[in-house]
Amino acid sequence: MSLNIHKAVFDVCVVGSGAAGGVLSSRLAARGLDVIVVEGGPKVDTRTAFATHSMPFDFKNRKMPVMMPGVAGFEDERTRGVGGKTLLWNAVSWRLSHRDFKGNTLEGAGEDWPLDYPDLAPYYDQIEREVGVCGNADHLEDLPDGIFLPPMPMRCSDRIIQRGAARLGIKVIHVRKATLTRSQAGRPACHYCGNCMAGCDVIAKYNSADVHLGPAALNHKLTIMHNSVVCEVTLGSENRVNGVRYLSRETLREGRIQARAVVVSCACVQSVALLLMSKSRYYPSAGQELHSSLHRQHQRLRQGIDRLEGHE
Ligand SMILES: Cc1cc2nc3c(=O)[nH]c(=O)nc-3n(C[C@H](O)[C@H](O)[C@H](O)COP(=O)(O)OP(=O)(O)OC[C@H]3O[C@@H](n4cnc5c(N)ncnc54)[C@H](O)[C@@H]3O)c2cc1C
Ligand code: SF4
Repeated sequence: MSLNIHKAVFDVCVVGSGAAGGVLSSRLAARGLDVIVVEGGPKVDTRTAFATHSMPFDFKNRKMPVMMPGVAGFEDERTRGVGGKTLLWNAVSWRLSHRDFKGNTLEGAGEDWPLDYPDLAPYYDQIEREVGVCGNADHLEDLPDGIFLPPMPMRCSDRIIQRGAARLGIKVIHVRKATLTRSQAGRPACHYCGNCMAGCDVIAKYNSADVHLGPAALNHKLTIMHNSVVCEVTLGSENRVNGVRYLSRETLREGRIQARAVVVSCACVQSVALLLMSKSRYYPSAGQELHSSLHRQHQRLRQGIDRLEGHE
């Protein structure tokens, strides 16, 4: 198998183009860095590829396909494609709260995070302004309020549930979603067709391909490589990460990209899998160490859950 080595040395190579990779790479490129995003899935034209305005009865056995029939792309909910899971996500966007970060101190569950809600709040503000999150300020301790666009109106059924729940002392609130209820930055407001998880073809719902990666590639030094599955983070002679090795799904050839830094942001399971595959002669037991660390974390989590459920 021949090896395709790219001559350029990028400042940063970002693996994966979903929620994390999409936002991060566009930020780095806007700061003037030369960034390459390596994405395992295909490029998807969100305007034409989805079955957004179809109905289940339009399809055999009423099963709505992820892509329009005849349009090539990804087929399952793991959504490998430029934009990652943000292409088909439901866009519900909560903030984590103090209680989420300090679960061990407050409830004996899991581990406390090394940061707390006030540390992250300014970044939540920033990203909410940028992507557009609708919602209502409900003043709830466990769901901190954000910088919201006007909330989506409740449906009649929501109002009925809200009234019934109120009698039980339960508060029903407006959904908080990364969906525009007012036009913003060239994107229109949502028209409530209700098919968000089949993909939004007007981009009222946030996706990282159209909102972050596309504009960054136009305006900055950002290269996006699709259909390229990274199989190893490579190390140089000084024991430092120096790039990635990938397999092209189109040519079935291997390739190598050189970069001064590598960001592994290809979703939770695949990121761990990539790190486990990235053994080297300098770190022959890197995979094993990661295995042990994951095992320890899982045990702590399990202990926390047992304590909460009263099994201990
Ligand atoms: C149907 C659905 C609905 C959801 N709804 C919500 C919701 O309402 N609210 C919410 O908060 N979350 C929701 N989520 C979850 C949310 O979408 C994910 O948590 C988020 O997208 C994760 O971001 P990420 O960048 O870590 O990974 P992803 O967005 O999954 O992006 C990872 C990217 O890496 C690529 N990749 C993987 N392995 C490799 C490799 N080896 N080489 C190169 N590329 C690789 C993948 O193809 C993918 O494009 C939903 C998810 C799904 C599937
Ligand atoms: S965000 Fe609005 S316009 Fe887009 S698919 Fe969902 S309901 Fe339709």
